[in-house]
Amino acid sequence: MTDTIIVGAGAAGCMAAVQAARFGKTVLLFEKNQQTGRKLRITGKGRCNVTNNSTMQEHMNNIPVNPRFLYSAFSNFDSSDTMAFFEELGVPLKTERGNRVFPVSDKAEDIVNALNREMERLGVEIVNKRVSALIIEDGVCKGVRAGGREYLSNSVLIACGGCSYPKTGSDGDGHTLAESAGHTVTELKPSLVPLVSPDKYCAELMGLSLRNVTLSLYDGDKLLYSEMGEMLFTHFGVSGPLVLSASSHIRSIAPDRCRISIDLKPALSPEQLDARIQRDFAENLNRDFINGIRKLLPAKLIPVITKLSGIAPEQKINSITREQRRRFGELIKAFPVRISGFRPLDEAIITSGGVSVKEIDPKTMESKLVSGLYFAGEVIDVDAYTGGFNLQIAFSTAYTAALYM
Ligand SMILES: Cc1cc2nc3c(=O)[nH]c(=O)nc-3n(C[C@H](O)[C@H](O)[C@H](O)COP(=O)(O)OP(=O)(O)OC[C@H]3O[C@@H](n4cnc5c(N)ncnc54)[C@H](O)[C@@H]3O)c2cc1C
Repeated sequence: MTDTIIVGAGAAGCMAAVQAARFGKTVLLFEKNQQTGRKLRITGKGRCNVTNNSTMQEHMNNIPVNPRFLYSAFSNFDSSDTMAFFEELGVPLKTERGNRVFPVSDKAEDIVNALNREMERLGVEIVNKRVSALIIEDGVCKGVRAGGREYLSNSVLIACGGCSYPKTGSDGDGHTLAESAGHTVTELKPSLVPLVSPDKYCAELMGLSLRNVTLSLYDGDKLLYSEMGEMLFTHFGVSGPLVLSASSHIRSIAPDRCRISIDLKPALSPEQLDARIQRDFAENLNRDFINGIRKLLPAKLIPVITKLSGIAPEQKINSITREQRRRFGELIKAFPVRISGFRPLDEAIITSGGVSVKEIDPKTMESKLVSGLYFAGEVIDVDAYTGGFNLQIAFSTAYTAALYM
């Protein structure tokens, strides 16, 4: 018999284990992988964007789904608490563009190691087994089953994550366990995910990475998202930081409505760009169009944009009409890519959807259906944009559950 059983040694499970042990509870932490924090190790491209150094309001603004559910959890443990927590454990942090917080070492491993050291110091017992079932009697959660054995406890926390990047261990078990306790799991969808395009030229541009461009996402004529940054063309469509962020603004993709528009020269107004094009043209008057625009755009883009412009590649620059030049300038300011779908859930950074927040007490993270059963992290139906907000959700909900378990 132990005070608390935690299922899943990811961001939420490890934080909850540390906090519960600090509150004096005995903790059994179940993890089906041989190591803890497999997903944590790959966060932020191996650098771990551990939180966002900003106000609670800013966090709320970056959580499109169920932000109000998190109000108490953020009040209990916010981004300044996360930063203090890791710095006290010997991981110096730095704040970068967009208030994104990383370890000074740029190593996600340092975050995992700090959690592991603290769990060891506090005597958290880690059991490397997959939890296959909850033990529930008369509406009370009494423990779990794992490896053919029963483990009893006063409370159980489900911190199994979502179902994206399933190779890291978060493959949907948390949702199955929640459903076995009578909980509703809302529709699971990929979020922060690459996007599929029917435009064949994306494949021609495969591998082309664009920096300092502005990506605007539209549903019909409605602007859903616009931001400057980096993106990438792939064999199926588009990816990269701007695209992942844009994807979380799409609720559903209706045929022929969703599109992105890329401003390849956001620093130039249309007039400034036209002046620049005229200068380049003046230097290349007797050359073919396709050869006269080399200074303006990345080489891989030139054949594609030439085709889209309707200007013959071999047309002499000196014969380009004002209308053709205007159309070419428009393409540079609004390079079009139609969007027809999301890449699958297992390629998504996060899972949108999860255990319904209507069935979890936001003050305690306890199930409203089964007493002694708690939830933390991505298994819950909350998700955020990029910037460290998703890990902060995991840490805040974990701390809150640990307070009450
Ligand atoms: C590539 C990538 C990069 C990311 N980068 C960032 C970032 O920089 N910043 C950010 O804020 N967010 C980032 N995220 C999102 C963030 O990693 C997740 O939101 C966060 O890890 C969720 O924490 P969690 O504890 O709920 O789940 P997880 O971290 O997924 O942990 C769940 C754990 O539960 C274990 N488990 C599952 N089922 C069972 C079972 N039945 N029995 C025992 N154990 C079980 C799993 O093995 C896993 O270890 C990234 C995600 C990905 C995929």
